[in-house]
Amino acid sequence: MKNIAQDVYQIPLFPRNAINCYLIEDVLIDAGIRTSASKILKSITGKSVNKHALTHAHADHQGSSKIICETLNIPLLCSEPEKEFAENGNVITEYPNPNHIISKFQKNFWAGKGHPVSQSLREGDKIGEFTVVETPGHSRGHLSFFREKDGVLIVGDVMTNMNLLTTKVGLHEPPHLFTSDQEMNRKSILKLASLQPKILCFGHGPVLFNNGEFERFKSLL
Ligand SMILES: [Zn+2]
Repeated sequence: MKNIAQDVYQIPLFPRNAINCYLIEDVLIDAGIRTSASKILKSITGKSVNKHALTHAHADHQGSSKIICETLNIPLLCSEPEKEFAENGNVITEYPNPNHIISKFQKNFWAGKGHPVSQSLREGDKIGEFTVVETPGHSRGHLSFFREKDGVLIVGDVMTNMNLLTTKVGLHEPPHLFTSDQEMNRKSILKLASLQPKILCFGHGPVLFNNGEFERFKSLL
């Protein structure tokens, strides 16, 4: 677990930061794939974790949600549109091509079982000092989390900071294959840019201490 900012920790679950989850204050954001639970639980040992929230209910984010919530006896939170998939585990429903071999692989080997959602999150809600930002596109109910005082942004999958095929570091739009509405996702990228974040934490790729990289990327969209 890497300390990124005050009370913000990155938990890399795969080599090269290929899949991450985060502890922000006392809330676990995302939970990797179905086999990530032991690594997550080990990482957060000794920390007070009172809630688990999802950026979105895809297999590489909700995989261990059920085990984590049951083990720690904590509630699961997500947006209203994601609730159905978080609860039934049908995580590839919104993919443009759910029958693609990679979609099926994710469903069969990465996705976790569904778990009841205790609370729906919407634009402007607070998670500690973080504010919920609705960023639809990659999925219909995708959420990001922003802390204004130091510019920490939990991006989720609105962007990745790696090429998912080569693992080379750099900003990218999320792959079309897993993105329900690419055009809407671009609007969400611009929405996040308007927040002028300083530290960007991605579902995929290393944390970016922004030095103009985000603005350059945004201007090329
Ligand atoms: Zn993802």
